[in-house]
Amino acid sequence: MSIRVLVVDDSNTIRQALCRDLKEREIETDSARNGGEALDKLGPGHRFDVVITDLKMPGLVDGERLIDTLKKDAALAEIPVIVVSAFSDKDKQLHNLMHGAAAFFGKPWDPDLLAVTVKYHAAQKHRLDHVSSDSMTDPLTGLSNRRYAHKRLQEELDLCLRSRGSKERRYLSVVLLDIDHFKHVNDTYGHPGGDDVLRHVARELRSISRSSDVVARWGGEEFLFIFPGTDLGEASEIIERFREHLATHTVDIPSAGTLSTVTISGGVAEFELRDTEETLLARVDAALYKAKQEGRNKLMASQSGRVFPVLSA
Ligand code: GH3
Ligand code: MG
Ligand code: MG
Repeated sequence: MSIRVLVVDDSNTIRQALCRDLKEREIETDSARNGGEALDKLGPGHRFDVVITDLKMPGLVDGERLIDTLKKDAALAEIPVIVVSAFSDKDKQLHNLMHGAAAFFGKPWDPDLLAVTVKYHAAQKHRLDHVSSDSMTDPLTGLSNRRYAHKRLQEELDLCLRSRGSKERRYLSVVLLDIDHFKHVNDTYGHPGGDDVLRHVARELRSISRSSDVVARWGGEEFLFIFPGTDLGEASEIIERFREHLATHTVDIPSAGTLSTVTISGGVAEFELRDTEETLLARVDAALYKAKQEGRNKLMASQSGRVFPVLSA
């Protein structure tokens, strides 16, 4: 198990000494000179298991502010923070421990004790990551599950709502896909054959998704695609290309020893000013319903109260 630690201290000497002590004990490190730089390094996709921070640092974000910011951020709250500070009074130590620090070390620190503490908290963090990724994953397809999709959709909607007044308008598009006549697939190839088809569609969906997109299994043979920062035109184009690809390529159904084709129908909508999660999802659902009504193997868009077909480029 490799461990990566972000060391935050304004003193070059201390940063280097901490990194050296940890590296000598098989712990990987990166460092930041203040809380602001640390928050930048802890952006989406970061791979740190533990943060070690000083308390007194120049700039807007000192150690206490850094801990506070991390604990308030749902995506970062679980990362253990170890304080290494020259403050020796007990009140300060207690204060920090009560406000979310995992451990407190004075300066000079004992390198062996520090490394053992880092390893303990990193192991706890790895266990937590495992549990939370299990509870957010659909076991059949390996895609995100409905719970995770809800959570992410809420986060993305919050970003859209916050950007409402600003010049930099934030886009968000959502697509709901449903396999056509899936009951027939099950009837023809058996339930295991149906599962093969679900795994195939999931794999293909994953292959067209970008790292910022969310693809989730929304229900039995329904998939929800969340496209952050993407407008209706772009999302429609990506999904329409996918619909066409699926309809014109065969699916391998190993459990039935055969090949087949499957088609999907979909509804797409872009976040509009008055949307809530409920109304946005209701709009993609209505568009999907219309695509089914109009013969399936189709994508329909919902915009400004209208539902209309998405045409291939
Ligand atoms: P439509 O084109 O209108 O979407 O018709 P449909 O047959 O695809 O739709 P319907 O929603 O009536 O049927 C969905 C079927 O999907 C019913 C259910 O048994 C099946 N299903 C749900 N979950 C799974 C699963 O995990 N594996 C398999 N093999 N089948 C599933
Ligand atoms: Mg269906
Ligand atoms: Mg269905």
